[in-house]
Amino acid sequence: MTNKQKITPGGLRVTDIFDFVVVGGGSGGCAVASRLSEDPLTSVALLEAGGKDDNWVVTTPGALILMVSGKVNNWAFDTVPQAGLNGRIGYQPRGKGLGGSSAINAMVYIRGHRSDYDRWAALGNTGWSYADVLPYFKRSEDNSELDGVYHGKGGPLHVTGSRTDNPVREIYLQAAREAQFRIREDFNAEEQEGLGTYQLTQKNGERWSAARGYIHPFMATRANLRVETHAHATRILFEGQRAVGVEYRQGKDIRQIRARREVIVSSGAFQTPQLLMLSGVGDGAALAKHGIALTHHLPGVGQNLQDHPDFVFGFTSDAPHFAGLSFGGIARIFKGIAQYRRERRGPMTSNVAECGGFLKTRPDLDVPDIQLHFCMAMVADHGRKPRWGTGFSCHVCLLRPESRGSVGLQSADPLAAPAIDPNFLGEDSDLEAMVAGFKITRRLLDAPALKALQTSDVFTEGVETDDDIRKVLRQYVDTVYHPVGTCKMGVNDPMAVVDPKLRVYGLEGLRVVDASVMPTLIGGNTNAPTIMIGEKAADMIKAELRAG
Ligand SMILES: Cc1cc2nc3c(=O)[nH]c(=O)nc-3n(C[C@H](O)[C@H](O)[C@H](O)COP(=O)(O)OP(=O)(O)OC[C@H]3O[C@@H](n4cnc5c(N)ncnc54)[C@H](O)[C@@H]3O)c2cc1C
Repeated sequence: MTNKQKITPGGLRVTDIFDFVVVGGGSGGCAVASRLSEDPLTSVALLEAGGKDDNWVVTTPGALILMVSGKVNNWAFDTVPQAGLNGRIGYQPRGKGLGGSSAINAMVYIRGHRSDYDRWAALGNTGWSYADVLPYFKRSEDNSELDGVYHGKGGPLHVTGSRTDNPVREIYLQAAREAQFRIREDFNAEEQEGLGTYQLTQKNGERWSAARGYIHPFMATRANLRVETHAHATRILFEGQRAVGVEYRQGKDIRQIRARREVIVSSGAFQTPQLLMLSGVGDGAALAKHGIALTHHLPGVGQNLQDHPDFVFGFTSDAPHFAGLSFGGIARIFKGIAQYRRERRGPMTSNVAECGGFLKTRPDLDVPDIQLHFCMAMVADHGRKPRWGTGFSCHVCLLRPESRGSVGLQSADPLAAPAIDPNFLGEDSDLEAMVAGFKITRRLLDAPALKALQTSDVFTEGVETDDDIRKVLRQYVDTVYHPVGTCKMGVNDPMAVVDPKLRVYGLEGLRVVDASVMPTLIGGNTNAPTIMIGEKAADMIKAELRAG
């Protein structure tokens, strides 16, 4: 099944040959590599630039704050200056290690709105309607609480309720009732609109990343699955227009690995287009500026970047239920660690964003256009600016912004960060929708049950008029971590990068399987949808193999 390693005179190591080489072990990559390697006759290599990501920092939910704010298992990218945000440079954390962003994310289990997928299908992407993708969501899922037509049992991705026992969860629901919002028990069923508490990708109080569900259990048991960590792909190798392998750096070595059937790029919405561009696949003129020889002119690579612009309300609070830097807060962390070690319950199992929901900013809208994440900590600038004191925060993000950004190259150096431009609030319509979202969120935060917890309003004291709100939005808006769309799927569209089978246009033996392929951003968090893409991709590939 595999050939022996050869070392060429130049020191280049040509490693084995596999049927499929998957580049990037994140949500999409883990799912597709795992499903393809279920067949012992199909050999799969998974290359991941980061490490194995199976230690306590990843598995302990509360440790996410250590990862999101810095370089632990995180690429921690900056954006280019954002014109819509007064020229500020935004922050874009991305998971680095097996599990990818699912190993550092907030574990909220959401699929988006059914109309999101029907819209993909209406754009010509046959096979991607809600009815088409629901079976893949269910196949991936092992839901310990919910059942019925919308939920799955026995899949690799464990989904369950929170084990924090934090009384603020009930206070949040009480505030929602006081402010006359609908309460929603399950955001992933018939209807999405309403407020409630989130289900999480956890099991027994531990994080359940895509790697934990799909790859870690099989690393030692599947002889046909090879996982290479600390393996940074630097270019895709082509023979003519066919992708035949990948060159990667591992420590000081430069290695090559060959793909008999396909190279599958799953490096995420920023690094998938980057790797394609480094390999000569992209806009010819843009590549020429970096001295990169053209393999195939595909102008859509890196375009169509969509992400949820997000604003965070923050409040200090003396209530003894919140994480933060205070004598009481630190004592609670130590107590929480002891409880976590004993019974895997309590504050260390918190995903921080425990409550939230989906709301419409106008009654005439067909679907909710904003999402809330209510957090059991007062976080400023993604936790990068620690503050003394405890408190809570509430995010509000716009689900289907009209602004479109892009990902480009800063240089031809494959180890350099890509140039990321989300173009947040580039369209005035996005700003106006967020003004409305701000007001609705404040209605919830002003409800007596939540008002009683607040000792001070950190960012929005005195913000009253629409102009005040616009100003504070431009001052603070940034990502809530859902970039997609940079290698969009489409038909009869010169800017489409992949077809509905996720094959890269104009080339052979090359597919993209991650959040980059989404033609439009979905209304919700993007981990489960990306895992669904990996599941569906594996099925499409298996069907092609069967057909010969
Ligand atoms: C802080 C944060 C919080 C989030 N919270 C939630 C949440 O609560 N719920 C939710 O549903 N979604 C959440 N998300 C979003 C969700 O996790 C992502 O949308 C999803 O994981 C993306 O999957 P992906 O496969 O496209 O990319 P990723 O999971 O990011 O995987 C890409 C992988 O490719 C690797 N890679 C990149 N370049 C190379 C290369 N050249 N060679 C080899 N390997 C490479 C990376 O190291 C990474 O492991 C969050 C994301 C972040 C960052």
